[in-house]
Amino acid sequence: MKNLIVANWKMHKTRAEAKDFAEKLKKSLANTPLTEKEVVIIPPFTAIETVATVFADTKNISVGAQNIYPAQNGAFTGEISSVMLADIGVNFILAGHSERRQICKESDEFINEKVLFALKEKFRVILCIGESKEERDANKISEVLFRQLEKGLVGVEESDLLALVLAYEPVWAIGTGAVASEKEIKETHEIIRKKIVAIFGEKGHTVQILYGGSVKADNCSSLLAVANVNGVLVGGASLDADSFRDIILA
Ligand code: PEP
Repeated sequence: MKNLIVANWKMHKTRAEAKDFAEKLKKSLANTPLTEKEVVIIPPFTAIETVATVFADTKNISVGAQNIYPAQNGAFTGEISSVMLADIGVNFILAGHSERRQICKESDEFINEKVLFALKEKFRVILCIGESKEERDANKISEVLFRQLEKGLVGVEESDLLALVLAYEPVWAIGTGAVASEKEIKETHEIIRKKIVAIFGEKGHTVQILYGGSVKADNCSSLLAVANVNGVLVGGASLDADSFRDIILA
């Protein structure tokens, strides 16, 4: 299984800044064919096409979108559709990020609608799950993750699994510098793997599970060595081309 290295830019970078980043990263990887890794850059909507254009001829680097509305078009002011995203070269859709769960009040049910729709529209989907500090302290990790998985994956078929990626992102580790320990990640990824196998059977072993939360170039390779960690989802440290290149090459 290839490691998936994902950059989530959140609400950062103009088109000029995105082009600058993409050209710099492309140049710095020019002599390093990515055989063991697949890279996905998820800019804000306005910069997706800019980044997609730079990497159009680059194997194993593609672009994603931070959100999708579960309809092809219609009266949904402020939303973005599958047709529009496919039109600008999007391959991956992020769903269930904790910032959308918390700030935008997205429910497990709505996240599930997006997951199903995005899979139907032939995107690959990265479903983010993870517990808050309070939930961890109250020993509710499995309860929270099971709820997010069970509700988020209602209606997903075994045949969809190759297009499904899970990202374990403990909320307390996102943007805080407080990366989870290798022991915590190992335990939690094992819980997630067992659950996904319980839901889907042996095919559940093929689903990539990423870790996200304060990943940096200097902790990335030890995180990738943890059992059941099949890649990383990177926020802050993906905004600088040199830092993201070091993560890709870690
Ligand atoms: C994220 O945005 O999903 C994330 C993990 O952010 P950071 O790497 O900054 O913690």
